[in-house]
Amino acid sequence: MMRVLLAEDDPMIGASVRRGLAQDGFAVDWVADGRAAQAALAERVHDALVLDLGLPRQAGLDVLTAMRRAGDTRPVLITTARDAIADRVAGLDAGADDYLVKPFDLDELAARLRALLRRGAGRAAPKIAYGALELDPAAREVRLGGAPVEVSPREFALLAALLARPGAILSRAQLEDKLYGWDESVESNTVEVHIHALRKKLGPDVIRNVRGVGWMIAKAGTSEATR
Ligand code: CA
Repeated sequence: MMRVLLAEDDPMIGASVRRGLAQDGFAVDWVADGRAAQAALAERVHDALVLDLGLPRQAGLDVLTAMRRAGDTRPVLITTARDAIADRVAGLDAGADDYLVKPFDLDELAARLRALLRRGAGRAAPKIAYGALELDPAAREVRLGGAPVEVSPREFALLAALLARPGAILSRAQLEDKLYGWDESVESNTVEVHIHALRKKLGPDVIRNVRGVGWMIAKAGTSEATR
């Protein structure tokens, strides 16, 4: 699951965007002003930012400029009013990756975010393939050796997080960050439960447990990792 920071001061737009993205499988944290957005960005837990340019306390354009100046390359999609062409141009020139004009369609926002996250991960292809395993983020489908595997949204999110960095060990805290927004509580053994379910479905060799450290997708051709 991709974790998105939403910076939007309009309560109705914010609530509907958060709900829509959550239904599309994103974990969403919502802040309503520019300073809160900057504080949240400093935590470095989000995969992308949806940024209203007209924010109180600190303008969206200033948030974006500060972010890029600090070397933060995470994808940013700006949202603006229909007549604010100059704002959109300034936003794109300040380092935004994409924009939508209000009111926008939530399915389109979700699709654009997936495209940005794909590009951010250096992939042009919409599907993630690794060995016999294939993930389709848009359809949220998993295939193993071509055969479909039923997984829950959280299981899918865990698998996607691990597959984004094959060979890297992700700790429980890192995986929890991928799974939950701020307002969702995490039960202490949840990651283990989902990993256990995934290993039952995919076989024990796809996800390696590195004892006391975390989990990883073994790089193709390596088998020395502990289970
Ligand atoms: Ca606004």
